[in-house]
This record gives sequence, C-alpha cells and structure tokens, in this order.
Amino acid sequence: MNAHWQGIGFTSQRTRERLIQRLRTMGIHDERVLAAMLHVPRHTFVDEALASRAYEDTALPIGHNQTISQPYIVARMTEALLAGRPLCRVLEVGSGSGYQTAILAALVDEVYSVERIEPLLRLARRRLQDLGYRNFRFQLSDGGWGWAEHGPYDGILVTAAATELPEALCGQLAPQARLVIPVGYGEQQQLQLITNTEDGYQREVLETVNFVPLVRDEH
Ligand code: SAH
Repeated sequence: MNAHWQGIGFTSQRTRERLIQRLRTMGIHDERVLAAMLHVPRHTFVDEALASRAYEDTALPIGHNQTISQPYIVARMTEALLAGRPLCRVLEVGSGSGYQTAILAALVDEVYSVERIEPLLRLARRRLQDLGYRNFRFQLSDGGWGWAEHGPYDGILVTAAATELPEALCGQLAPQARLVIPVGYGEQQQLQLITNTEDGYQREVLETVNFVPLVRDEH
C-alpha cells in the first residue's frame, strides 16, 4: 500500500474496516468478497468532492445521471456470483465508475465490462490501470447484447435494471454459470439470480433493489 492510503481521516484503514464490519452485520460472509472490498479504494472511483462519503454504505452520483452502487449491493451481487461455479471469465454490464469491475478484477482471472456512456468508460479504464489491474477489458456498447466474442462466461453481473431478462445474456452463460441481474421498473426491482442448469434457466429472487435503468439501443 502506498502512503496515500495510510493517512487518517475519511480514507483511513479504520474507516474502511468499519464499512466491512457493517457488511458483515448485514449478512455478507464470503471472506474473499470482504477482503476485496477492504482492499479496493472506493474513494478513487468517485469525484473528489464526494470522497469523504466513499466508505458510507450508500450509492453516490458519478455524473451522466448514473450512480456508483451501494457497497452492500456490490458485495451481495459479487457473493452470489462467487457461490456458483469457479469464476475464470466474468462479464459485467454497466461499468459506470469501474468500482464493481475492480472488485471483480481482484477476484477472478478475466473481467469483461460493457458500458454505453463513453466518458464513464474512459474514466473507469484509467482508474483500473492506475490501480495496477491488467486482467480487464472494456467495450463501448449496449450490454443487453452481452459481449459474445469472449463468451461463454462463468458469471455475468448486470448493474442496471432490465425491464425483462435479456435473452442474449442467458445465451452467453457457460453450463452452471450464474447471471445476477436487477429486473423490473422504477422502484419495483428484484435482484434475480439465474442459473444455467441442464433443465433450463433456474430463477431465484435475492432481494428488492433500486438500480438505474438498463438503456437499450434501438436496432
Ligand atoms: N457497476 C457500476 C454501476 C454503475 S450504474 C459502478 O459500480 O459504478 C449502471 C451503469 O450501467 C451506468 O454507467 C449506465 O450508463 C450503464 N448502462 C445502462 N444501460 C446500459 C447498457 N444497455 N449497456 C451498457 N451499460 C449500460
């Protein structure tokens, strides 16, 4: 860790540990997820003016009407993905700030992440590079179509709410792979866990969530 992270104050180790403690009390038990969230500096994924709030368990604005997800939700989704088959390649839809991408990059071999707003994608890419990650690729496109070129994936995580399950994403799941995705309108969204089983796609509802919408391009 460089000196930057060792200071006291809002980015200090203790502030971060408090967040991890909170995630534990909220039911996050996977130590790999908790370690990754302790390690990845969330305050570098938001505007400097918001850095003092980076270790609160809350979503924060990142511009372009988008938000960096609440830490608890990032942890919950990552934990749900990790509980499935071993993860080598993972696809993320909705890179946003790149924070979830970094958490995944800390945990799996290869992360592919798709974003439709170019300035966000550029910033996300730079942040991951600056943190020293090398196992990620970004693409500017409508992630509702997935990223077929690198599939099938061992896991797919969608960080924007779809009105219905995008078929293309299901089609890019390896056998037994999991897709974690918020589905629904407005504040009526369910976080769903889809598993690609021999008997078809199995669906489980994890909890109620509140994500920005997955915006589909016209075709
Ligand atoms: N994982 C992000 C969350 C960002 S919010 C983070 O931790 O910061 C959701 C993101 O999904 C936004 O950046 C939005 O632009 C993006 N998005 C919405 N619809 C999309 C689509 N069809 N394809 C790709 N990205 C999309």
